[in-house]
Parts: sequence; structure tokens; C-alpha cells
Amino acid sequence: MKIAILSRNSKLYSTRRLTEAARKRGHEVRVLDVLHCYMNIASHKPQVHFKGVALEGFDAVIPRIGASVTFYGTAVLRQFEMMGVLPLNESVAISRSRDKLRSLQLLSRKGIGLPVTGFANKPDDIQDLISMVGGAPLVIKLLEGTQGIGVVLAETQKAAESVIEAFMGLHANILVQEFIGEAGGADIRCFVVGDKVVAAMKRQGREGEFRSNLHRGGSATLIKITPEERSTAVRAAQTMGLSVAGVDLLRANHGPVVMEVNSSPGLEGIENATGKDIASQIIQFLEKRKQEVGGKTTGTRTRGRG
Ligand code: ADP
Ligand code: MG
Repeated sequence: MKIAILSRNSKLYSTRRLTEAARKRGHEVRVLDVLHCYMNIASHKPQVHFKGVALEGFDAVIPRIGASVTFYGTAVLRQFEMMGVLPLNESVAISRSRDKLRSLQLLSRKGIGLPVTGFANKPDDIQDLISMVGGAPLVIKLLEGTQGIGVVLAETQKAAESVIEAFMGLHANILVQEFIGEAGGADIRCFVVGDKVVAAMKRQGREGEFRSNLHRGGSATLIKITPEERSTAVRAAQTMGLSVAGVDLLRANHGPVVMEVNSSPGLEGIENATGKDIASQIIQFLEKRKQEVGGKTTGTRTRGRG
């Protein structure tokens, strides 16, 4: 196959690994910086241009679109889809998963376990919003945050009120969420490829930190997950319509709850923690998908809704 990898930088670990794995399996690979792609959307023959040349003959495209370039990145990906190029994850699924509230609403509709979560724009009664999610301690999140930035633990009712007021004063969109204290500052990253969890790791926040993000100094170790956790992760990815996803779970007393579903999960942490060659598994999955759709224009294959 001729594969395009949409990534800002070919030296990033995940991009490098996917390139390496694809070449090893005999594919031709080109890494394209999405911000340097430009498109003719009005033509009867949709095109993507890169450095003065129209891109042609690609069979598949692997999006590695960072949160800061979601808007333009998904537009470029959509253009590839219009050209009949098979995407590893579809643009519509990526957009969907980037909005935490929308994601949680979709997951909730499918009956997937979630932390009790409230959302408000201008609550006239902040105390009621707080009691709706079970009172303090609670977690307050900026809707568009990543890497743990914008996730705050309010341990008392008073702290919760003032943090919510402060965020509202800045016109920020926020979620207010039940704090799963029993998770002990750890979460589980399940790496889903197709309908399987191909690897899982436990991420533990550093001492005194409730956020387990590796970017915040957390550490990762291998973990064995339960069948319930496995099926929750796969169902969450499918609900979002993502073929490849990093599903983050918390171990709550009443079972696994999904915190978020990541559409461009990093390979470095999970390959190092598990010693598995996930990049090759992703490429093999793409080969299988390509065979299934054959030479047909792939257009939209949307399992997720909304
Ligand atoms: P981000 O997108 O910034 O990573 P997350 O929602 O994943 O935001 O939250 C960051 C981290 O904070 C999580 O990995 C988890 O360790 C912790 N966390 C988030 N929400 C909760 C919660 N409701 N209860 C307990 N810990 C939480
Ligand atoms: Mg996270």
C-alpha cells in the first residue's frame, strides 16, 4: 500500500514507529505535515496539495492529529476520505472524541460506565450542580484540556464553589465530575485496535498527585485487565466510531468507568510498558481493513453516531 501519515513531525516516536513498521511490511510511506497540506474542495475531483504537488495514489491514511490542530487536521483528513483513501480513524470520529462532553453523552447513551458528570454554562445554583454529582470532593475539568492541564480536584464544597465560579467568570466550558478516590491516582490505558484491546498499562500519578498523566510525571506499568474492563474499552471505542483508540478507565468500586477516549493514542508509553510491537499491529489491522473494503471508495463508514 501507499500510506500517508498525517503528523506534524516525522521524528515523533509514534510517527517514527508507524513509518518503520509499515516499511518493514513492504509499504510505501510518506509523512505529511497537515498544516502544510492545502486543498481544492470545490473541484469535482477533490485534491490535496503538498509543497506545490497534488498528492496521488494513496491507499490509506493514518491520522496523528494533535489536539491543537484538530480543526484543520480533520478537514485535511476528510479531504483524503473524499478522494477515496481509507482512513485508519475517520475524521468524524476524531472530531467527536475531541469533545469531552459529546463523548460522555454518547457513551452514556450506550450504557457504558462513567463517573457521574454535570455540565453547565451559567448555573444559577452552583450548590445544586455540586450536589447533583454527589458533593465534594469533586473534579472540575476544562472541556478542551489535555495532558491533565485544566483538571482540578476540589476537596471541599467551598473550594468547588470558588473554582467553578472562577472558570465560569472566564467563560470556560467545564465539566463537574464525581471524584473516583478509590482509583488512588491511577488509571488504566487500554489500547484498542479493531475489536480488541491489544495492550493495557496502569498509569500512576506521582506521590500526592491525583492525575496519572505521564506528562504530569506519572509512571506506567504493565497490568492485567479484567474481562469487564476489556469489553468496556472495546465498546467505548466502537461507540466513538474509532478503529484505533486509547481508552482511559478508572477502577471505581462499582466497576470500570470511562474517563476519556483518545483518537491519536501515543505509542511510546504503551510500547515501553508492555514490550509489544503495537505499531505493527496497527499496520496489520490497516492491511486487513483495506482488503475488506477492496478497491472500493471507502467514503464514510460510521459506526459511531452523533
Ligand atoms: P486530560 O484530557 O487532560 O488527560 P482527564 O480527564 O484524562 O484529562 O484527567 C486527567 C487525569 O486526572 C486522569 O488521567 C485521572 O488520573 C485523573 N482524573 C480525571 N478525572 C477523575 C475523576 N473523576 N476521578 C478521579 N481521578 C480523575
Ligand atoms: Mg487523560
